[in-house]
Amino acid sequence: MTPQQSVVLRRGDSGPAVAAVCERLALSGDLPGGSGHSDRFGEAVYDERVEQAVKSFQQRRGLIVDGVVGRSTYAVLDGARWALGDRVLRYVPEHFIEGDDVVALQSRLAELGFTPGKVDGLHGPSTDSALRAFQAAVGLVPDGTVGPETMRAFAGLRRSVSGGSANALREREHIRRGGYSLSGRTIVLDPGHGGGDAGAHGHRGLVEARLALDLARRIEGRLSAHGVSVVFTRTEATDGGTDEERAAFANSCDADLVLSLHTDHSASGSAHGASTYFYGHPDSAAHSDWSVIGESFADLLLREVVARTGLTDCRSHARTWPLLRRTRMPAVRLDFGYLSHEGDAASLANAQILDHVAEAVVVALQRVYLGEADTSRTGVLRLDDLRRHLETMRGQHVSADRTVS
Ligand SMILES: [Zn+2]
Repeated sequence: MTPQQSVVLRRGDSGPAVAAVCERLALSGDLPGGSGHSDRFGEAVYDERVEQAVKSFQQRRGLIVDGVVGRSTYAVLDGARWALGDRVLRYVPEHFIEGDDVVALQSRLAELGFTPGKVDGLHGPSTDSALRAFQAAVGLVPDGTVGPETMRAFAGLRRSVSGGSANALREREHIRRGGYSLSGRTIVLDPGHGGGDAGAHGHRGLVEARLALDLARRIEGRLSAHGVSVVFTRTEATDGGTDEERAAFANSCDADLVLSLHTDHSASGSAHGASTYFYGHPDSAAHSDWSVIGESFADLLLREVVARTGLTDCRSHARTWPLLRRTRMPAVRLDFGYLSHEGDAASLANAQILDHVAEAVVVALQRVYLGEADTSRTGVLRLDDLRRHLETMRGQHVSADRTVS
């Protein structure tokens, strides 16, 4: 399976590409009994069993569960077969190597005190520099290539640090260094869709792309008042590009956090409520590839939104969507209601409700930066209370430092 740009395989297809997919699914344990059925020409067939196996793989890996092998499923499926040491890893600028072996490499580097950036399974520039730093530290040629010598060096080193997730440590450290305040931070707001893509259309003439931008502006006003620099991935006139491009843009801004705004749509018209998404593999055992701050912000945000708007709580979920995965900072997506639902649409047509959602975003952000000690009840905190709380916290922080020194 070599990476291809436009591969799409679905039920009814047959041929060598299907056989390769079946082989991977057998290895991952999703297609028990190995290869799928063959047709009368001996070609592997993408039948119902294969489709089920693809869905179970997608479910476990946090991909969109559609039973179709498109580009992202293909890449993750292809990456899943690699264990660290199976192939030579190095940084390829125009096409990052990705796979489970890269996750293992990043986790190993992080455990040993070298910071590879987010543990995301993509061999990018931060992984490259962490790897070179590691090689130099153990006296190897810092060539950025994981070959037999580097593997031997890894094997020879015992973990000095164990436990705790690399992503969590990295994110906590980032917040600690920034201080317990929103002021001076950069937040990227990503109103979904845009340009030629209007997103979902719903009751009351609501259009997702326009609504997302409207909400983003309300959030911007409130955040700017708190000294936050707000950057948009798109405006009314411009198109934010693909999710990969939006993620790359947020990385180039060196933002502290990314918030993507969407609304939902369902054919039945009965689905309703709000949900949030953060980066994580649902089956991640060690939680090494998991954004702890993302999860915490996603939880807080949803609670604040639900408490202030009356939208139904559809929970927060770990996903590996490109925008969540390819951003180097915590990223969260908020789906604020279903435009296909009469009740949700009526709420969202009301400017006051949008203001409540915007307020919920600011309060949830404040709470993320206040740290874990904050246990105030959801939906009741006003911004002034938070400011006071912050000042008390900063006071404690200073006196704690003094006691130590
Ligand atoms: Zn959308």
